[in-house]
Amino acid sequence: MATAKPRRRKCPICGKLEVEAFRPFCSERCKSLDLHRWLTGGYVIPVSEDDDEDGQPDSRSKPPED
Ligand SMILES: [Zn+2]
Repeated sequence: MATAKPRRRKCPICGKLEVEAFRPFCSERCKSLDLHRWLTGGYVIPVSEDDDEDGQPDSRSKPPED
């Protein structure tokens, strides 16, 4: 059994001990990382956005021919 245990929590991002200034994280980096996860957790950023920019004849952009 060890002596007095530190009451500090561990950083949820990397597992290091938290730093008071960035609680409950260990650094500003982990803090922003967690924030980033929150912001991007809901949806996925489209990667192939300019894939259908032009070149692909989409029936949507075309006027309906009847
Ligand atoms: Zn961390």
